[in-house]
Amino acid sequence: MSQQQIILDILKDDKWHCSSEFYAQYMADPRKRLHELKTKGYELENRTCELHNYHLGGSKMWRLIQPNNAILPTFKQPLTLKPAPQPKLFTLQPAFRDV
Ligand SMILES: [Zn+2]
Repeated sequence: MSQQQIILDILKDDKWHCSSEFYAQYMADPRKRLHELKTKGYELENRTCELHNYHLGGSKMWRLIQPNNAILPTFKQPLTLKPAPQPKLFTLQPAFRDV
């Protein structure tokens, strides 16, 4: 399975997925793969990860916008999520920053 296919497989449930999930699939550079998918015409959204609180604000989560969902009328309110609470103390947590 290509890495692009792995990403699509992860994203096909239409939910937000942290880029740490891509790294968990031994993907060295998911950002590159995500960019390639975009150039192929896939609609990908990203925002700062709110699924975990160990990124210190540096990681992204991703969502695939399904083409057949785009046709349906949506009445979604814009999400106003508060940023995840940040630990006060500096912790050595090198994993999955800057994605
Ligand atoms: Zn995350």
